[in-house]
Amino acid sequence: MFQVQILGTSAAIPTKFHRPSAQVVSYHDRHYLVDCGEGTQMQLLRYRVKLARLDAIFISHLHGDHVFGLPGLLTSMSLYGRNFPLKLFAPAALKKVLDDTFKQTESYLMYDLEFIPMEDFAPGSVVFETERMKVFSLPLEHRIFCRGFRFEEFNKRPRFNFYEAKALEIPNEYFALLKQGNPITLADGQVIEPERVLSPPDPILSYSYCSDTKYSEPLVDHIKDSTVLYHESTFLDDMKLRAAETAHSTSREAAEIARLAAVKQLILGHFSARYKSLEPMLMEAREIFPDTELANEGRIFKMKDYG
Ligand SMILES: [Zn+2]
Ligand SMILES: [Zn+2]
Repeated sequence: MFQVQILGTSAAIPTKFHRPSAQVVSYHDRHYLVDCGEGTQMQLLRYRVKLARLDAIFISHLHGDHVFGLPGLLTSMSLYGRNFPLKLFAPAALKKVLDDTFKQTESYLMYDLEFIPMEDFAPGSVVFETERMKVFSLPLEHRIFCRGFRFEEFNKRPRFNFYEAKALEIPNEYFALLKQGNPITLADGQVIEPERVLSPPDPILSYSYCSDTKYSEPLVDHIKDSTVLYHESTFLDDMKLRAAETAHSTSREAAEIARLAAVKQLILGHFSARYKSLEPMLMEAREIFPDTELANEGRIFKMKDYG
C-alpha cells in the first residue's frame, strides 16, 4: 500500500470548500504528514487518520498556509498520550517559532520532538529512509527557502510465486529460505533453486510533492519518472505574470513540468481562492498532460504500476 490522501489544497487562505495545504503519505503501515496548514488536525480526525499513527512530519516552507496547524497538532498528540519520538523535517527557523509558541502558551510535549533542519541536506539528497522507502529533498523555487519531497521505494524484493511453490510440492517451512534467495534441498534430495519460485520485483513506485514553486526546469531531473507528481497550480495561465511575481505556477506550467519529467500522473493543487470552479485548470493542464487530476479534500491517490 502506497498512497497519498489530500487533507487541504487551497493557497494562502482557507475557503468554504478548501483547506490549506496538508496531506498524508502512507507506505504500508507508516504514515507521514506533509505540510500542516491551519485545521489539519480536524482534517485528520475527519478522515480517520489517527494522530498517534503519524511516524514523521515534513514541512516544505514556513508560509502560514503550510504550517499554521502545526503547534496545535503537536500539542494534541501530546494530550492524546504520545510517548515516543516524532521526527519533524522543516526549515530551521521553525524550531524557534515552535519553542516560542510552546513557551508563551505554557504547552509541553510529553514526547521527544526530533527537529531536523532541511538546510542540512543538499537538494536531491536522502533526508529520511526506512528499510523499504527513501525520502529525497527537492529544490523548489519560491519566495523563501522551500523544499519538496520525493518518496521512493527501494530494496524491493522479488515476488514469491506461491502457486509455483505449491505445484513443486515444496513444504511451507522452506518458503522463507527461498524468499531470501537460498536454494533448498527437499527430503528426496531434489535441489530447488530460488529462481524457480521467484520473479523480478515490481517496478519502483514514487510520489513527488512540490508545494509552492515557480515554473522550474531544474526541478525536472529530481522528479523524473515519478509515479505520481503533486505540483502546485495556484493560477490559470492568463495570470502567468502574477504567478512569476509571486513565485507560483499556473496549471499549464505544472502540466509542462509533468510532461518534461515524464511522470505517470499529475495532481494539481494549491488553488488560489479566486477560482470558484477548478474545471478550467483541469482542462488547461490536460491539453498538455492528459493524465491530470485535481486534488480535493479527502481524495486518495494510489501509486500503482502504470506498465
Ligand atoms: Zn502556499
Ligand atoms: Zn508559499
